[in-house]
Amino acid sequence: MNDRTDTLSCMQPQRSTAEYRALDAAHHIHPFSDMDALNRAGSRVIVRGEGVYLWDSDGNRIIDGMAGLWCVNVGYGRRELADAAYRQMQQLPFYNTFFKTTHPSVIELSALLAELAPAPFNHFFYCNSGSEGNDTVLRIAHRFWATQGKPQKKYVISRRNGYHGSTIAGGTLGGMDYMHEQMPSKVGHIVHIDQPYWFGEGGDMTPAAFGLARARQLEAKILELGAENVAAFIGEPFQGAGGVIFPPSTYWPEIQRICRKHDILLAADEVIGGFGRTGEWFAHQHFGFEPDLITLAKGLTSGYVPMGAVGLHDRVAQPIIENGEFNHGLTYSGHPVAAAVAVANLAILRDERIIERVKNDTGPYFQNLLRETFANHPIVGEVSGTGLVAGIQLAQDPRTRKRFENGDEVGTICRDHCFNGNLVMRASGDRMLLSPPLVITRAEIDEIVGKAKAAIDATALQLDLA
Ligand SMILES: *Cc1c(COP(=O)(O)O)cnc(C)c1O
Repeated sequence: MNDRTDTLSCMQPQRSTAEYRALDAAHHIHPFSDMDALNRAGSRVIVRGEGVYLWDSDGNRIIDGMAGLWCVNVGYGRRELADAAYRQMQQLPFYNTFFKTTHPSVIELSALLAELAPAPFNHFFYCNSGSEGNDTVLRIAHRFWATQGKPQKKYVISRRNGYHGSTIAGGTLGGMDYMHEQMPSKVGHIVHIDQPYWFGEGGDMTPAAFGLARARQLEAKILELGAENVAAFIGEPFQGAGGVIFPPSTYWPEIQRICRKHDILLAADEVIGGFGRTGEWFAHQHFGFEPDLITLAKGLTSGYVPMGAVGLHDRVAQPIIENGEFNHGLTYSGHPVAAAVAVANLAILRDERIIERVKNDTGPYFQNLLRETFANHPIVGEVSGTGLVAGIQLAQDPRTRKRFENGDEVGTICRDHCFNGNLVMRASGDRMLLSPPLVITRAEIDEIVGKAKAAIDATALQLDLA
């Protein structure tokens, strides 16, 4: 008890909120932010987390509907993860894995991932983030085709409004216009097809027909480029940052069929979907397809320390292993502290049966409650998602799927209402996103959905649509 009190007291803010904001404004450039506007308004200073709750420097308790940035799957404040890091730092804080060396921490993690992942995934390459993971996917795909005597297979096809990170390769693979506009140099041989976003782009088609049509854009693009020039297709099983967009059920089987038919690697970016979000260990299991490469990050360590990885299907791993040196690596590939935290995190997910609970209990409860709460709401067009991830589509006229002309603004209005109600719910354009820690209870789900309803009601009122 004493121990706990000491820990908390040493985590009390050391400065006033005003001081923190002034120093932050003076010296810190935030990611994806309009710094001038942010500095004028002042950042919220988060000082502590426990379970699904955060506290800011003014003492407000906030419920975190986003698990940080889709990553804190086991929730905040898990002592086991801190202990694993502490022990590993004392024993061996760093050693590399480049020069004929390895260490127990990365060995344990690799063996554990092989056990938890579907059977054909037995090899893992490590990095520090999802972006580096997708850079690595490109490197592996190109290396794989070189070992097959087909080095001309260079093109990688991805989707508009997909998100694959913000390194140059990750940003190019992603299909975010606002990022591309600020990237005059992009990685070559990357091309995009349209997203499987039925609500926004499905027109008069049924979701099933639309899913097939969007998947068949892949085949058309492969034929246009020549299959002999295409290395891989990459996609998020469901789009996360793009709005928690769940593709129609016809989409992934058709994508897989096309990749197999034309001998193209299929890469699943599991950075958000991996480690339980959908109620399966990996989101591709939920959608029922079998990728050749999987990108992992975020939930791998529940965000307690940075780590990313790529899982290689046996049919990709073997040629990489058997054909000489693969000239790729990062100083911190398989970092011992990150690996130790990942092992402790995965052990919690497995031993506490958290993912089974998402699948059988909290996930269905969350999805049903959202759908009941927003059925016939004047500005909600659809709720999509499964397990503990959801996208709530705001719309001018839900019945005709008419979207707002100023959708970004409407999303921001709603996000501000959430903020004032001490709920973290993110906006992606006109879609509101929820992805809470996987340890969330039913009572905490009630709180999140109640606060989300209050914020969306307030948004409708402000727009004169209530
Ligand atoms: C967050 C994310 C990334 C990028 O991961 P970083 O750790 O931010 O580099 C890549 N892909 C998906 C699907 C993501 O959600």
